[in-house]
Amino acid sequence: MPFSSVFGNIDIPQTDILTYVFGSDSPPSDQPLFIDAENTQLSLSAKQVLQWVKRLNVGLDRLGVKPGEAVMMFSPNHIFVPVAYLSIVGSGRVFTAANPVYTVPEIVHQLKNTEAKTILAHPSLLQSAIAAAEKAGVPKSRIFQFSDTQESPKNGVRDWREMIGSSQEGESWTWKRMSPHEAATTVATVNFSSGTTGLPKGVCVSHHNLIANVEQTIFMKYKGKKFNRHNHPPERWVGFLPLYHAYGQLWTMLMALKLNISVYIMKQFQYEPFLQVIQDFKITHLHVAPPILVMLHKRPETDKYDLSSVQEALCGAAPLSKELQNDVAKRFNMLVYQGWGMTEVTCGALHVPGGFDDASGTVGQLDPNTECKMLDDDGKEVQEGEPGELYIRGPQVCLRYWKNEPATKETICPDGWLKTGDVAVQKKGWFWIVDRKKELIKVNALQVAPAELEAVLLENDDVADAAVVGITLHHEEWPRAYVALKDHAKGKITEKQLQNWMKSRVAKHKQLIGGVQFVDEVPKLASGKIVRKLLKEWAKRDAPRL
Ligand code: AMP
Repeated sequence: MPFSSVFGNIDIPQTDILTYVFGSDSPPSDQPLFIDAENTQLSLSAKQVLQWVKRLNVGLDRLGVKPGEAVMMFSPNHIFVPVAYLSIVGSGRVFTAANPVYTVPEIVHQLKNTEAKTILAHPSLLQSAIAAAEKAGVPKSRIFQFSDTQESPKNGVRDWREMIGSSQEGESWTWKRMSPHEAATTVATVNFSSGTTGLPKGVCVSHHNLIANVEQTIFMKYKGKKFNRHNHPPERWVGFLPLYHAYGQLWTMLMALKLNISVYIMKQFQYEPFLQVIQDFKITHLHVAPPILVMLHKRPETDKYDLSSVQEALCGAAPLSKELQNDVAKRFNMLVYQGWGMTEVTCGALHVPGGFDDASGTVGQLDPNTECKMLDDDGKEVQEGEPGELYIRGPQVCLRYWKNEPATKETICPDGWLKTGDVAVQKKGWFWIVDRKKELIKVNALQVAPAELEAVLLENDDVADAAVVGITLHHEEWPRAYVALKDHAKGKITEKQLQNWMKSRVAKHKQLIGGVQFVDEVPKLASGKIVRKLLKEWAKRDAPRL
């Protein structure tokens, strides 16, 4: 029998994202909301965010960017990224963001896939953006330099502030309120995820998905107490989670905006500046992934800073050992608890209710309005306490993969169940993630799709065949390749050469840090499918000697 949330159902506003965040009974606040952590003079209140959202939309309208058309963001975090996100989504367009460390071929893939014809690129990334746009057929006139400060145009590209409407024009721009049906069917964001198998795919998340997941997460965070932006306990957050990822989008932008909680935005994650921000601005709540807790626990710099303002740390995006969770909680006298999510559930579906002192390493309970079932390898439901693949159904489950029906069919059943590829155990309504059935590798909590690295390796003239799998070394997961060389290359090509060859082709977190092992043959079934189970065994076998 499917299992429903013990919290039952909550009401979810059936509207569009701008009406949801700005359309309440009182005008948007003028308290600083998004604050630059390096220069606190630079900040935006909710009221200013809305003004900029309107002005940017005047510009996008003038450019002729149509509803349903994707606009690509290619930038590190800064206080205007939420402006672009809300402008694009709020006007019925589609927000898609590329990781700032992407190489040109990776950006080209995302541009071609989403058919984005407009790019907002940070000045530091303009060269890659221009090179990728050229290859993807995006005219240079549709690339805009996008930063938090007024910059003179570089590389023959216009600054976004030259494209947008004036304050006056902005005042008269308004958005189209969506009907419940439109909110449920209009694509808001397309983030990329490899799901349970294959190459990264665009995940179509609707306005309703976003609103539902914000409401569900607020419910879990405050244990069902009816808090809103006027009456929740005072909090201060630090925004270092990447804003191209669902986790950063939901917490740093939407949750902060909905609850009007100040977020000190960091352009990139660096450990000591992060500690400094916590100390200087007395950050109260952290939203982290496991590598941050490892640093807090292991790095000697930690002791130089006063972190006593932190009350709670929510950890998600990758497996966290309960030992580390408990060590960090004890040492810093803070609550450390987990949530589980994936890009395909907008952000999250399981959370430990905020304020709950967990020592068991659970990823929590089902969010309200959410159901799950857990199946064994034969597709039969498992008993309580037995491991099974987690299937999730709820209003946060994405609509589909972007223009990829076969992948959608493989992952989302017609009756709404999402196959997660994660193996969990459930006891009394609490869940623990115990294994991952899907191909996905998580490096520093970021997705790496083996199929993508295999495709890149196969482009090498010396490589006959290749398979990639995650290997765990010193408690961290890395991609490792098993490669069959062509006859002419055997004995001539080294592991290092192949690793170096990958460097210019894929982003840093996708590098073959787990090594390359040459094999005579990549294990495959008669159908041509790689025998991934065997690869996992090989990786386990190899790990102790690496
Ligand atoms: P992403 O789509 O990048 O958010 O990655 C989703 C995947 O991250 C999930 O399917 C899990 O494999 C993993 N993940 C997320 N949260 C957790 C967690 N709390 N514990 C273990 N794995 C997690």
